[in-house]
Amino acid sequence: LPLPAPRRIKALAEDVVNKIAAGEIIVAPVHALKELIENAVDAGSTALEVLVKDGGLKLLQITDNGHGIDKEDLPILCERFTTSKLKAFEDLSSIGTYGFRGEALASISHIAHLSVTTRTKESSCAWRAYYSGGKLASPKPGQSAEPKPIAGRPGTQITVEDLFYNVPSRRRAFRSASEEYAKILELVGKYAVHCTGVSFSCKKHGDSSASISVPANASISDRIRQIHNSAVASELVTFKAENDRWGFKCEAWISNANYSAKRTTMMLFINHRSVESQVIKKSIEQTYATFLPKGGHPFVYLSLDIDPQRVDVNVHPTKREVHFLNEDEIIDIVCDEIRTSLSKVDTSRSFMTQS
Ligand code: ADP
Ligand code: MG
Repeated sequence: LPLPAPRRIKALAEDVVNKIAAGEIIVAPVHALKELIENAVDAGSTALEVLVKDGGLKLLQITDNGHGIDKEDLPILCERFTTSKLKAFEDLSSIGTYGFRGEALASISHIAHLSVTTRTKESSCAWRAYYSGGKLASPKPGQSAEPKPIAGRPGTQITVEDLFYNVPSRRRAFRSASEEYAKILELVGKYAVHCTGVSFSCKKHGDSSASISVPANASISDRIRQIHNSAVASELVTFKAENDRWGFKCEAWISNANYSAKRTTMMLFINHRSVESQVIKKSIEQTYATFLPKGGHPFVYLSLDIDPQRVDVNVHPTKREVHFLNEDEIIDIVCDEIRTSLSKVDTSRSFMTQS
């Protein structure tokens, strides 16, 4: 058989490349929201409001009272790799803020209608800008793409509409808005527990009351009580641990041996970023296994601060997976602390039943 003629190789158009890259970072509305929450927290906000329509596919809006964005920066805000958080590659090892690659807003602008209203302390008014494909865009045909002055309070409001409007395959993948809203509530709930000093609210468009609402001055146990339930909040133990050799500190609020649920609630923060770790989850579940009835699972909120030089945050743009040095040693220390905390509660209980 004659060999087929080779097909010529061509470069993909830039907007196609950007759309593909965006779709890899943002797979569901909750991923866009995570970036927006982290940006709001990075901006020093103490109040954060989230509004959601159709599981975030129709509308995701987040309003903060942080430092705002300088008007002069609006033209490049949504370009790829524009950031106020990282200047040199070496900074990656000491970065304290959530974002650092300047990819989130750019990605969102490629797969949704994005608008930003922002005001700094110094500015006498707010500015509103619309974006498409990484650039300033006009809100309606025939109108200018220049940011427009409007009235507004200091802080930033980001509005994301019609997510995946130009990625039909992705849009079709969503089964139900309520499933996406549940993921959004889980995420907002995690940050609302973790970010003390910040008020949070999350509301579904059209609902009269918020699904999540915590005031800025609520303590961690108040936050857990409001977002989860009082059953778990009244069975919490807390501990702190640190170790210089492995360069880490941790603070935990975990359920004691009186509490047992059908599945584990795990809220893990590494350097103030919500992350998943199957390894940590499994180890903690094993630690609990000797304290809980068969099939029982714990509630765990664990915040780890690891020396940034030991954390490899640059694994993937999503930053969902984080790796750090001496993972095993650090997990062992945390699990030892959990065991100690759980046995303390156990002894005090048997003490009481004896007396
Ligand atoms: P990164 O967070 O990695 O820098 P983003 O695309 O998420 O990249 O944001 C780009 C830049 O826009 C940030 O560096 C920040 O300067 C600015 N920014 C984004 N959201 C906000 C916000 N809510 N308040 C103030 N500045 C913001
Ligand atoms: Mg960011």
